[in-house]
Amino acid sequence: MIIISGTETRKKLLEDYKKTIEKENLDIGLSIIQVGDNPSSNTYIRNKLKYTTEVGIKSELIKLDEDVSEEKVIKLIKKLNKDPKVTGIILQSPLPAHIDFTKCARLISDEKDVDGFSEENLFSIRDNNEKIIPCTVKGILRLFEAYDINLEGKNVVVIGRSNIVGRPLADALINRNATVTLCHSKTKDMKEHTKRADIVVSAVGKPKLITKGMVKKDFIGIDVGINVVNGKLVGDFAKNTYEKASFITPVPGGVGPMTVAMIIDNLIELKRK
Ligand code: NAP
Repeated sequence: MIIISGTETRKKLLEDYKKTIEKENLDIGLSIIQVGDNPSSNTYIRNKLKYTTEVGIKSELIKLDEDVSEEKVIKLIKKLNKDPKVTGIILQSPLPAHIDFTKCARLISDEKDVDGFSEENLFSIRDNNEKIIPCTVKGILRLFEAYDINLEGKNVVVIGRSNIVGRPLADALINRNATVTLCHSKTKDMKEHTKRADIVVSAVGKPKLITKGMVKKDFIGIDVGINVVNGKLVGDFAKNTYEKASFITPVPGGVGPMTVAMIIDNLIELKRK
């Protein structure tokens, strides 16, 4: 069984990004908008600032008060859309309930959409004409490449149908000639699907959702879930699934580290355009 290390893969990628940015003299600016002071957002943002700055990106955090109006957030996005120093914009989720995340995020121009959440970027995956791919999805695709996992003809079960992970991942896998089944909370007898899968991706956020009896021998497991159990970070796969895996991503240290690396990947792509 091989543990797919997102941490190691990211390390190599960051070295490459740094060299590319220096060699091509890319002047990249990233603006992160945060509303309020959500503790998990603070951790994610700290990482985004750390890794982007390390490779030579000029990153800034614009922190707005919890009670800021939606109108003010929209105004800021429109201003950043026009600012030539800003290559990419991230609207950090979650937002307070009075602000519509999807509405605001979709106002980020396609040319500055680092997260790949704009209608045009998401549709480009559906249309098999991929532009900016959402970072977690791109990170998973890079892990398959890094570990020489061929997707063509593979039976893949993706669990979770969110617009930021499950759905675009299913589309991207279809583009790479996998046969994809998408499961969700209303799927009947999920085991019937996962048992037959060469690759199981879980993007749900439920500890021990996938257990040993649900997977076949030598399956490949991609664990996107992030859960805190007794103060420890765990994914969606029970530990006993590891015995049957040929490759598996751990939590922490699997998909998570790749997501932040793909922010840099997307920024370089946006800048080159
Ligand atoms: P989300 O929007 O809450 O979507 C969760 C999905 O799981 C939904 O489609 C839901 O089905 C499905 N689901 C819920 N219970 C289920 C069950 N018992 N069986 C099968 N499917 C079930 O979540 P998300 O934003 O996609 O994130 C999913 C997980 O990935 C979370 O743990 C999140 O923290 C993590 N995540 C990790 C990274 C990373 O970088 N590692 C990045 C993003 C997200 P319905 O559609 O029917 O409700």
